[in-house]
Amino acid sequence: MPHNSLEALNKYFGYSSFRPGQEKLIASILSSKDTVGIMPTGGGKSLCYQIPALLLPGVTLVISPLISLMKDQVDSLNEIGIPSTYINSSLVWSELEHRLYLASRGKFRLVYIAPERLESDKFLGILKEMTVSVLAVDEAHCVSQWGHDFRPSFLSIASLAGNLRTRPVIAAFTATATEQVKQDIISLLGLDSPNVYSTGFNRDNLYFSVVKGIDKTDFVIDYLNSHKNQPGIIYAATRKEVDRLYATLVRKGFQAGKYHAGLSDAERSRTQEAFSYDDLRVMVATNAFGMGIDKSNVRFVIHLNMPKNIESYYQEAGRAGRDGDPADCILLYSASDIHIQKFLIEQNPLSPERKAAEYGNLQNMADYCHTSLCLRQYILEYFGETGVPENCGNCGNCKDESELSDITVDVQKILSCVRRVGQNYGVNLVANVLRGSRSKKISLLGFDQLSTYGIMKEYTANELTNLINLLVAEEYLGITEGRYPVLRLGNRAVPVLTGKEKVLRKVRKKAPTADTADTTLFEMLRGLRKQLSEKQNVPPYVIFHDSTLQEMSRLCPVDRPSMLAISGVGENKLAKYGSQFIEVISKYTMAREIAPLTAKQAAAPPTADVASHLSTYEMYREGKSLKEIAALRKLTLQTVQGHIIRCGQAGCEIDWDSLIPSPHEDLILKAVRRLGAQKLNPVKEALPKEIDYFTIRAVICKHKL
Ligand code: ADP
Ligand code: ZN
Repeated sequence: MPHNSLEALNKYFGYSSFRPGQEKLIASILSSKDTVGIMPTGGGKSLCYQIPALLLPGVTLVISPLISLMKDQVDSLNEIGIPSTYINSSLVWSELEHRLYLASRGKFRLVYIAPERLESDKFLGILKEMTVSVLAVDEAHCVSQWGHDFRPSFLSIASLAGNLRTRPVIAAFTATATEQVKQDIISLLGLDSPNVYSTGFNRDNLYFSVVKGIDKTDFVIDYLNSHKNQPGIIYAATRKEVDRLYATLVRKGFQAGKYHAGLSDAERSRTQEAFSYDDLRVMVATNAFGMGIDKSNVRFVIHLNMPKNIESYYQEAGRAGRDGDPADCILLYSASDIHIQKFLIEQNPLSPERKAAEYGNLQNMADYCHTSLCLRQYILEYFGETGVPENCGNCGNCKDESELSDITVDVQKILSCVRRVGQNYGVNLVANVLRGSRSKKISLLGFDQLSTYGIMKEYTANELTNLINLLVAEEYLGITEGRYPVLRLGNRAVPVLTGKEKVLRKVRKKAPTADTADTTLFEMLRGLRKQLSEKQNVPPYVIFHDSTLQEMSRLCPVDRPSMLAISGVGENKLAKYGSQFIEVISKYTMAREIAPLTAKQAAAPPTADVASHLSTYEMYREGKSLKEIAALRKLTLQTVQGHIIRCGQAGCEIDWDSLIPSPHEDLILKAVRRLGAQKLNPVKEALPKEIDYFTIRAVICKHKL
């Protein structure tokens, strides 16, 4: 049994420090106070009740509406040596009784149940036999009618708590709570003057961007090519669009799956599972793909179309990067997205007030797409946060990497061609005229005599149709509805034709040349993880997160103590998998004569510089402060600080927030953005005296500037 929460975090979870808010929430539960935790998705809510479950007597009952996640969560807990089980409608009654019997004998630290169970008297009878110390309510907003997923059975939770032998501590968690929902959580769950902690909605590791004026399919293909092997989700507005993009991606050889309400249940769960197991890399989906995605290593969420409001967008985009590693949330915007959403609103039989509200929400969403200010700030302020920094440094507007290129002449050519064919033909014909196609139709119509015939020969048919579609989306051209849509000049055509207005198109700067880092070892470790995952019938991330494998492939641990130093390797996983992973790493390092990381090295005297910063890191992971480490190692504080920075640069996990005084962070960020991160002298000089070099370097490292 661990003695305190930090020990539990190290020993079981293999993590070195808490994420923001976790420590307070855990302490509150341990002190027997009812507790409400509001943390964004991926913030690490589960750990806040799992650690108390380890430290307190009796069992922790977790009530969660996400039945499809229970198995993975319970598998993950058992993997790290915390005996747990779940009880939901997927079990037959005999199995359920057996599990409860084991629970009443104290065999489990955590028991997950679906809220619907609380409506069965028989079940409640059995619960009364147990010593429940904590009742953890996940997705607690489901208790409120004002929340987005109201579940009536959540209303039974309060009476359950009262009917147990002793009233357990109630801990409620959610990622989305407006003031009203928060009040409902407190009153409807019957919380007794609870401690309420909110870490806000921000998710540092997510990069937000809006991309306009591109061909969306081309963008997706380029993106997938320049982000090899990374798993992600692409959301599209309609089933038809999902089918289309899915077919294109499969044709191009990508491992893609698709998910929408038009597919059978069996098909959907098969695809979802394949995605979890890393057998599919990209999921093309409508918003039906949602609840129950626990895959932690989703590296990007691309929206092919603008969703109907910011709530939906943030929820969908938020499925990226739950493991805390950097991930991209990219929205591909075109003006026609607004028409789609307006159409959907008009289709719904809504009251006039609701309709007006929906239009308002849509406008907010559109404003997000058009703003040139910080996108993160926009979202956070939308959710009511105050004091949000004006420049986050990690969104498309704070670090705009696109260039504008002037395409006025090409647009003029297209517009005049549309005019020359009498605004009477569709996209393909116009493209063919511009390309100078020798098709019979064109010569029959005499269009090969037009002045615009063949004036854009340098383009492929595909590029031309894309460009024309873009002009439609941006309202330079209009298009009629119906079976044979015809191009017309749009509202914005005349000023361009008369040379009064230019057309600029954002082109992304050349994607940075593909990452040349050697990923061989990472791929080997991934392969081993995949084998183990199939053998044990759990998704790969239940065994190790990607970030853990990445750290292994960077640091090459080849014995047990150095393996234990890897974030995400706790004692149980070390015992279970350590030797197999060590074997792969040893073979690799030997074959390539790469210096591996060993415990001996890590503990070597300070003269061995490589080892020195790692031994500092070991002590840091044990929870020692930098001052304590300096004293113990007889080093100056500056040296120890240097070690921490070095470890941070090498990708070791450092809790920067506990090292950087928060009022300084903004100041430093602003100064670095203005003066650059190459030379620290000018930055230091521009800042108040009390800010030292270490804090500046820590901020640079934290934000990867
Ligand atoms: P939430 O329920 O808030 O969406 P989870 O509890 O699923 O988030 O946690 C998200 C991820 O973060 C998980 O992979 C978890 O293992 C990881 N995690 C949680 N706390 C920490 C921590 N202190 N250090 C490192 N990783 C953590
Ligand atoms: Zn920003």
